[in-house]
Amino acid sequence: MALDLLIKNGTVVDGSGMPRYRADIGVRAGRIVEIGRIRSAAEKVIDADGLIVAPGFIDGHTHMDAQIAWDPLGSCSCWHGVTSVVMGNCGFALAPCKPEDREWFARCLTAVEDIPTEAMLAGIDWNWESFPEYLANVERLPKGLNYGMYIGHSALRMYAMGRRALEEPANEDDLRAMEAAVAEAIRAGALGFSSSRATTHITPDGTPVASRIADWHEIDRLVGAMAALDSGIFQIGPDISGGEAQRLFYERLRRVALESGRPIMFGTLATKQGVDPNPWDYSTRYIDETVALGGRMYGQGTTRSINAVFSLKSYLPFDGLPAWKEIRALPLAEQKHRLTDPEVRRRLVADEAKMKPKSSELQGGGAATTDPRRPDYANLFPMLDVDWDDPSIADLARRQNKHPVEIIIDLCLENDNRVFVQPLVNESPEDVLGILKHPRTLATFSDSGAHVCQEMGSSLQTHLLSYWVRKRQQFTLEEAVRMLTFDNASAWELPGRGLIRIGYSADLVVFDEEHVRPRLPTVEQDLPGGARRLVQKADGIAATIVNGVVAMQNGESTGQHAGEVLKGRLAAS
Ligand SMILES: [Zn+2]
Repeated sequence: MALDLLIKNGTVVDGSGMPRYRADIGVRAGRIVEIGRIRSAAEKVIDADGLIVAPGFIDGHTHMDAQIAWDPLGSCSCWHGVTSVVMGNCGFALAPCKPEDREWFARCLTAVEDIPTEAMLAGIDWNWESFPEYLANVERLPKGLNYGMYIGHSALRMYAMGRRALEEPANEDDLRAMEAAVAEAIRAGALGFSSSRATTHITPDGTPVASRIADWHEIDRLVGAMAALDSGIFQIGPDISGGEAQRLFYERLRRVALESGRPIMFGTLATKQGVDPNPWDYSTRYIDETVALGGRMYGQGTTRSINAVFSLKSYLPFDGLPAWKEIRALPLAEQKHRLTDPEVRRRLVADEAKMKPKSSELQGGGAATTDPRRPDYANLFPMLDVDWDDPSIADLARRQNKHPVEIIIDLCLENDNRVFVQPLVNESPEDVLGILKHPRTLATFSDSGAHVCQEMGSSLQTHLLSYWVRKRQQFTLEEAVRMLTFDNASAWELPGRGLIRIGYSADLVVFDEEHVRPRLPTVEQDLPGGARRLVQKADGIAATIVNGVVAMQNGESTGQHAGEVLKGRLAAS
């Protein structure tokens, strides 16, 4: 019988970490059916001579919940070899949601994840109320990627408790309603339950998001609802606002791990912000100890710094200052014209002295861009390239004997697509390496779909391959591919994915190991309603294949959307 797809002459890196080998791969009806020197005919042939063929990358930490309604591609992850994602992280979700609460939910998502409310109201056909109805909606939508999802604590609490969710502890009736909804979601196919206690997660009024109002007893009960079904992952945004806060958070989370037995995941990041921050290996030691006591726990790491991103076309740190406000309200061409005027420049530089000084409060990408402190110019970098060895604004100011603000203005005028990055966490690459090398951490956490104009984490996979494998030689290609595929498929219990094996789903990526790398990000105005976002693509990825169908070729969508919903064990598919 003819094959649907034949990938010929490639070098297979199969996802297990085992050494590469040359082979053709045959695909039929969405699955890998043959690996070897294939003689059968195929409807479509990809010549992968000189290229690597690997399982498609899996990203377990995204916020594509809203974007999936208007973006069948799954950008920006689709440009970085990703074929499967998990959304609904950190408790933020669009279900369950009553029809009259849609705008409230959208505004909360805007506040915490910088997904524009106008894009959500214009771009989403809100045809669900319950979680199973949302999942059925995702099933119907055209999808270039596979999507798994959690039921999110903040959404669930707002659904069950209304406005009380932002103020009160849950009463027994609330708890029973939420437990039932968690169980219903797990049976429908949710991969788990997500929550957050991160101090960076706030509502439009600056108050804590709903999940942060919950006490730990509520978390025990809701994770307990999953434990009763022996199914589902618990993902939580950790409190890392300071060393002591993190210690208390970790201690209490350990009890959840040991009592429920459910797999627990949380962001494992290094930070120099906050009060008395713990070193990165405090987290990895904690995970090891919890596992030794009988818990199941994974750290979610990423492959580089998480940054606040600034540019002339989006946010600049100075936007709130009076002289700046006047200029920034003008059309871009007019702004650029004014920025050449020496008198204007003098006023803009002078205004900077009025900025709030840096405090010990830990800022995420949200506050760092919308409520910025006077920048530490030694920790603010123009992205001249993607190798992360650019001089800081402080270095450039010293070299040119100019004020740092003038350096930023000059760089914006030179190229209005120039972005500036301020590392918020994972400031030191060596800390990132330590986290990545730990066997209980996962290379995930792009946050794709969120912080659309504030951060840019979608390139974590191509950064791992270009920087840590090729440039720094800290991992073999086989190890790095395993981290992005088999490890994540195993942690999220995704059956039949994450390896190149007969019978497995044909989720594949074909790339050039010598040239794969992220491109520089740009600011585009392509969201529904014309809202802006950061876009980052990659070089060196020849194709991605999702369930046997070529989804992307040379960075362009083929217009075919064969993605599926990734469901937990209890869902009848
Ligand atoms: Zn998140």
